[in-house]
Amino acid sequence: MTVEGGCYCGALRYKAEGDALMRGQCHCRECQYASGGHPNVVLGMPEAGFEWTKGSPKPFRRADLENPVTREFCAECGTHILTKAPPMAGVVLLKVGTLDDPSVFGKPEMVIYTCDKQSFHHVPEGVPTFERAPGG
Ligand SMILES: [Zn+2]
Ligand SMILES: [Zn+2]
Repeated sequence: MTVEGGCYCGALRYKAEGDALMRGQCHCRECQYASGGHPNVVLGMPEAGFEWTKGSPKPFRRADLENPVTREFCAECGTHILTKAPPMAGVVLLKVGTLDDPSVFGKPEMVIYTCDKQSFHHVPEGVPTFERAPGG
């Protein structure tokens, strides 16, 4: 599949080609900052097929963590576009809300980090849930 997307102001545009590697819903505390309070939904695509077609993102990594994720966002409008997580090398986790057509997400295949779930979060029926990530 090929998906395209960008940030709220249009300064950043991207294209991702390849097979979708994961469709996830993440309840971790960090994603709550990025999403506005609800879980984050992400589409994992191969990094090899990903490119910025307009603009360059501002990367952010927490300096106080041993193995931090990298979050890339628009320096103009603040839209958080993607995350690169060290345990998932070669994968870009695209925030579904930045896709031109978020409906291609369909639905999550896994729900992760329910250890940080808030009482007002919803977990879809019939989807595997993990207290943290699968396998760890
Ligand atoms: Zn922007
Ligand atoms: Zn998360």
